[in-house]
Amino acid sequence: MLALPALAAVPMPALSEISGEGGKPGWHGRPRLLPSRYLDNMQRTVAYLRFVDLDRLLHTFRVTAGLPSDAEPCGGWEAPDIQLRGHTTGHLLSGLAQAAYYLEDPSLREKSAVLVAALAECQAPHGYLSAFPETIFDSLEAGGNPWAPYYTIHKILAGLIDQHRLLGTAGALTAARGMADWVGLRTGRLTREQMQKVLHVEFGGMNEALADLYEITREPRHLELARRFDHDEIFGPLSERRDTLAGRHANTDIPKVVGAVATYRATGEEHYRTIATYFWDQVIKHHSYVIGGNSNAEFFAPPDQIVSQLGENTCENCNTYNMLKLTRRLHQLDPDRLDYLDYYEWALLNQMLGEQDPDSAHGFVTYYTGLSPSASRKGKEGLVNDPGTYSSDYGNFSCDHGTGLETSTKFAEPIYRTAKDTLTVDLFIPSEIDVAGTTVRLTTLYPYEPRICLGFSGSATLTLRLRIPRWVRHPTLRVNGKPVPARPGRYASIRRRWRSGDRVELHLPMTPRWLPAPDNPAVAALAYGPLVLAGRYGDTPPEVLPPADPSSLRRVPGATPEFTIRSGDRSIQLSPFLDVHHEHYNIYFALPPARRAAAVIASYPLAGLRDATGRWPDAVLAGGATPGERGIELDGVSGHVVLPAGLPANLTEFTVSVWVRLNTITNSARVFDLGFNQQSYAFLTARTGRGTARFAMKLNGMEAEDFVDAAIPLPLNVWTHVEVRVADTLRLFIDGTLSGENPAPKMGALLLGATHFNYLGRSQNTRHPYLHGAVADFTLTGAATAF
Ligand SMILES: [Zn+2]
Repeated sequence: MLALPALAAVPMPALSEISGEGGKPGWHGRPRLLPSRYLDNMQRTVAYLRFVDLDRLLHTFRVTAGLPSDAEPCGGWEAPDIQLRGHTTGHLLSGLAQAAYYLEDPSLREKSAVLVAALAECQAPHGYLSAFPETIFDSLEAGGNPWAPYYTIHKILAGLIDQHRLLGTAGALTAARGMADWVGLRTGRLTREQMQKVLHVEFGGMNEALADLYEITREPRHLELARRFDHDEIFGPLSERRDTLAGRHANTDIPKVVGAVATYRATGEEHYRTIATYFWDQVIKHHSYVIGGNSNAEFFAPPDQIVSQLGENTCENCNTYNMLKLTRRLHQLDPDRLDYLDYYEWALLNQMLGEQDPDSAHGFVTYYTGLSPSASRKGKEGLVNDPGTYSSDYGNFSCDHGTGLETSTKFAEPIYRTAKDTLTVDLFIPSEIDVAGTTVRLTTLYPYEPRICLGFSGSATLTLRLRIPRWVRHPTLRVNGKPVPARPGRYASIRRRWRSGDRVELHLPMTPRWLPAPDNPAVAALAYGPLVLAGRYGDTPPEVLPPADPSSLRRVPGATPEFTIRSGDRSIQLSPFLDVHHEHYNIYFALPPARRAAAVIASYPLAGLRDATGRWPDAVLAGGATPGERGIELDGVSGHVVLPAGLPANLTEFTVSVWVRLNTITNSARVFDLGFNQQSYAFLTARTGRGTARFAMKLNGMEAEDFVDAAIPLPLNVWTHVEVRVADTLRLFIDGTLSGENPAPKMGALLLGATHFNYLGRSQNTRHPYLHGAVADFTLTGAATAF
């Protein structure tokens, strides 16, 4: 074991010396957290920060620097053969800095100093600070695809900057400058084109950290370096307000946009701000699930796909950690845009607090927050990114283990803003803060109760501003019992001479409200005030989104907002999602439809391309499809018919009828396919591997599809009438005769939603063959619900 240098305790810097996140005065007060769920989470993470053996994490840094180390190597993503090794040490620097700063804790401060000094020793021999050898960058620059080396460099650089700005840790700024020098040498040899190729590999927020360094040093070369990490491929479309996010790895792109705000602050160049504000708006309004997270299996989906993109691997927790960083930086630019704070609070409550296992003494976290009906937060230690499984002491070290260390140590950061004689309360987290000679104490059980109290000790003339969330309908605000105006979505403002014993009481009454999904208004999640509620399922998850009858919702007597609701023939318990652990849960429910009589929804004879009902746009011939004698001819290569998006929206039951003539029969070729993607669809194929025609439907997140097989394949060379009826049963008719039936499908017509991609002759899955033959007389009949 190497002896670590002993360091004398250095006094904490005064508040005025602190350069806040980005350096804005007043954005980085030092509130003290009072007992609450937030403080509980923080204390568990702090217990881990105290526990974790720095020598084990430093092992690979020392080996890389040629220094001796006999520490036991770590596992997971810090194992000696994993290219991402070293990233956790960056998060540890930030987590230690935040915890030491907000808790004013000398032992965490000392541990910080030890870590920074040890890293400086590793940097000394070659001016290179990393836990993996520099040769990985040779491979990167030669066009290889190593695992995100600059991502790890970013974490360490950002951690050193946090150590400097929050604690003034000796050597941290010098080490950060040294890293920047190395980045300058390494990237300075590359042309702009070569650098853009390097940026194809995930690089975290290198631009953010370097722009932050520039805010401290004011050396133009640091800003120039930050801009070297401007990634044209993503910044180009965003600066033109184009959403090209579908199919992109979310947590690769979000930090780049955080960097765009940092660069805007340094340069004032408007396009950086456009990139960030447009991105935030799109992600929050068109790519986010109801809990405030984004991505399915780590990638962005097309805009407004939610129910069709449920899965066990939705909402990687790092993404939301980074969205919160972005949100906070944008709020600094636009302090009166309270939607930033509404999102910040919402994502904290409904994703980030719940990512941590409350039964873990060391604050272990999950990697994803899954949103399929089969999702769970599990108690056992598992694979690094096994859905829903918590991290561990030394065997995990996933990206989310790292970002979790930061998330749980900065809850105090966004609560207040202070100016000379103004105190702004942005979040309702129990805490106290000293301002202008008084101590203000915020106490509440919010969001478990609607009442938030502020008390004063000492006297001062001060403007007190309180954020009133947008979700509240009838807020009330009282100062010493006297009403004061308060409006949703605004700050309430009170200026007076405050005295000890003064009391401010804000009441935010909460009611349950259903929040429908954009791609299927028949599917909704239930919120209560700022809390998303989850159905609890113990060990047995539902197989598909379960129904819920809003008229049966009942509050369970007691202090916490617990409810019951009827779901089919059973009663389900609903709890705040952040409290549901070690069991299966469900967030999105199918609401009961108002059933109506069936009618023709759309009818395309395909003699022309018009919809005979006159309600829908024309069908479109694509990929070489041509009008034939009786319908549309499809060449089996790429020809298909595109029908309008949204056709089966809000149908409680439907029937598709279509004529088809096959020239060739190929397994999996679709007669029709109405869907969103490879996981959310309703299709008819002429023949499967089992040798018969099949209709099947599925919603993302379901393990298996519902299907009905015909008795025969569709015949060749003759016009055949096919009809599929989706109601309480699935029935498949060929030439007017019932050919197959599924008496108990799990999914229903309503869950299919307003499908975006509706085809004749083509599958959602691009690997499937196209239909070779002809189609005619497509008719969709159905019973629509009232929305
Ligand atoms: Zn992650």
